[in-house]
Amino acid sequence: MSEVHQIPCCDMLDHLCDFLDGDLEPEIMESFNAHLAGCLNCQIVVNTVNKTIQLCKDGTQQIKLPQDVHQRLLAELGLDQVRD
Ligand SMILES: [Zn+2]
Repeated sequence: MSEVHQIPCCDMLDHLCDFLDGDLEPEIMESFNAHLAGCLNCQIVVNTVNKTIQLCKDGTQQIKLPQDVHQRLLAELGLDQVRD
């Protein structure tokens, strides 16, 4: 059942900002959602980022993902070597 993963996780992160802005091409949005439906890792990333953005918009609270959590998340996704 790997057909769901039409685009790789790293592409998901590339499109994440546009997705959150609602700025995604319909075509890419479809692939994005298809991947998201079948990939727990990306669901976690999207949920986390969404929640963080909401908290930031909500008020004065400064939410920061603890460094070790951030690091572990990237490691789980195999992205710890591709970040800049
Ligand atoms: Zn993924």
